[in-house]
Amino acid sequence: MNCPSCNATLICVLESRHTGKNVISRKRQCKICGYKWPTAEITCPPIASVAGRHWGSFKVRDELVDELVKDVEASKAEASTRAEALEKEVATLKEQLDWLPGKGGFGAR
Ligand SMILES: [Zn+2]
Repeated sequence: MNCPSCNATLICVLESRHTGKNVISRKRQCKICGYKWPTAEITCPPIASVAGRHWGSFKVRDELVDELVKDVEASKAEASTRAEALEKEVATLKEQLDWLPGKGGFGAR
């Protein structure tokens, strides 16, 4: 794993917690730039051993990792869209509040 900020590989785990029935979450920190980020560890189905390769049952299938990364990216995009919608809603509500009597808006004298 590389640091998402500077791409260094010198990383340490600051904290590990069981955050779900099948999930362990870790807080990691880059030893080079100090950036901190969360990771999650889940159980994956084992893959068949490949002759001559030592990864065998240890390595997680590349397709599975690609799928997980896509899901995480989609979730991030969805969260960003929701956050933008909420910010717009808050701005609209603030505008409406400015128009309430006694708040310095319309009708306030
Ligand atoms: Zn870094």
